[in-house]
Amino acid sequence: MTGVVLALDVGGTNIRGEALTADLVAVAARRTATPLGDGDAVLDAIAGLCEGLLGDVAAAGAGPVEAVGVAVPGVVDTARGRVRLAANLGWRDTPVAELLGARLGVPVLLHHDVTVAGLAEQRLGAGVGVEDLLCVFLGTGVAATLTVGGHVVGQRRGHAGELGHVPIHMDGLLCGCGQRGCLEMYASARAIGDAYAQATGRVGATSRDVAAWLGTDPVADQVWSDALDALAHVLLGVITLLAPTRVVVGGGLAAAGDALLVPLRQRLEATARVAVVPEIVPAGLGQRAGVVGAALATRDALRTALRPTAR
Ligand SMILES: [Zn+2]
Repeated sequence: MTGVVLALDVGGTNIRGEALTADLVAVAARRTATPLGDGDAVLDAIAGLCEGLLGDVAAAGAGPVEAVGVAVPGVVDTARGRVRLAANLGWRDTPVAELLGARLGVPVLLHHDVTVAGLAEQRLGAGVGVEDLLCVFLGTGVAATLTVGGHVVGQRRGHAGELGHVPIHMDGLLCGCGQRGCLEMYASARAIGDAYAQATGRVGATSRDVAAWLGTDPVADQVWSDALDALAHVLLGVITLLAPTRVVVGGGLAAAGDALLVPLRQRLEATARVAVVPEIVPAGLGQRAGVVGAALATRDALRTALRPTAR
């Protein structure tokens, strides 16, 4: 497989796409806004972005394009190329791979965004060489990818660790998933902004603002501390059960750097008695993790499909 793969990461704000060679060199990159909530418009936006990339690849003489890999937030049936549910994108049991493939004339494979972002961190980012790894992504939502014995758990099933929906208060805040007390309601970027707004009446503050006000605004300090308590509580459970040797922290909140990682480690060290607290490091690939992971997972899938069935 020496051709180019188009790799896309469909996010809540933007759809990012790159045309990547077998060595993962980007020969073209494009980005477009995500038309949230309108499934047909999202398909149009993805198809338009791919057509642009196909033109870029042809103009650069870098082809042929072997496949398109699309990383999607939601519940994804990777084997059948269907999105079972991506509420924000307006997809419910939508045969995305088939619809896009017919328009583009190139095979399309679907992936779960967090799973492939974790795969990218494990192969090329901050988790290289780590056999037992936990990658936690803290953004609008919270999710995780677990690597056990060098293998990313759930890659074929199209979903990752739903760390954000681990309940920490059984009678806590009602989550969008229908459950109460989910971690995501306390430790996501959105939850931090909401908690600050609720405490101060200042609507519109983001988690980035709260991080910037640490040390000067006592309410920001308290909101941040509460979020870290919730996150440390759930992570302690995960590391006690699974004993990863490294935790990689990515997603928008990870931009806070040591303001996030240092107090998180302190909390774990102060409470852990059975578990050995692993290294806690920032993600290595940043915003490109989804795109790079989509390319890796697509090449993996093509390689598997080409391999003769063992008998
Ligand atoms: Zn939930």
